[in-house]
Amino acid sequence: MRWVDSHCHLDPEADLAQVLGEARAAGVEYLVNVGTDVASSRGAIEVAQANAGVWATAGVHPHDAAGGLEGLEELTLADRVVAIGECGLDYHYDHSPRETQREAFAAQLAIASRVGLPVVVHAREAWPDTFEILRAEAGSLTVVMHCFTGGPDEARQCLDLGAYLSFSGIVTFPNAPEVREAAALCPPDRLLVETDSPYLAPVPNRGRRNQPAWVPHVGAVVAEARGEGVWEVAERTTDNAVAVFGLDTA
Ligand SMILES: [Zn+2]
Repeated sequence: MRWVDSHCHLDPEADLAQVLGEARAAGVEYLVNVGTDVASSRGAIEVAQANAGVWATAGVHPHDAAGGLEGLEELTLADRVVAIGECGLDYHYDHSPRETQREAFAAQLAIASRVGLPVVVHAREAWPDTFEILRAEAGSLTVVMHCFTGGPDEARQCLDLGAYLSFSGIVTFPNAPEVREAAALCPPDRLLVETDSPYLAPVPNRGRRNQPAWVPHVGAVVAEARGEGVWEVAERTTDNAVAVFGLDTA
């Protein structure tokens, strides 16, 4: 089986070669390495350019929205950048003022439109504003709802907007039945899986430092929720990720 980790944060300062080797050994052939501010996006791109099977995004996380977007658009033109993000709204932590988060989110949707890349969205405890901004600004953009944590209602609203739902280790947590319901109703052509590593390690590794090699644990629970074979989910989510991000796997 082949997998894509559609959203991870690789640490070039840590045991990167080992992490990539273990991913490959687990069948996780392709990785999307996600930036969270201008500096980390630059770092993510460098890792992608230096390692086969790794692509990058450039974006500013809502936590870092107050730091501004200076230099971001230029980065999106770099080789192996396949999306803008992660960007969005996080009203759980409120690390940046909400108005600043909304402005940075809308501005990144505008950048994505200008440069013609999909957008990776982080939404936490901010669904109404997220939907409002996407409806107003996303136009014909391809949208990936990363680390989807909503239930069936939010899933339907995302799907109505044409978005993809990317499921993370949260789908494996016993206290997240609504996320499994969302995974069950997601059309096969809108389904993605990710680790969001090093955060949110899936069961049975919960609490440990997460890594891309564990994306099959996410896929197995998604498959169970959908009543499908694991291989089916692996194949679908791999095809979807290659298509959404335009991964040049040749
Ligand atoms: Zn992330």
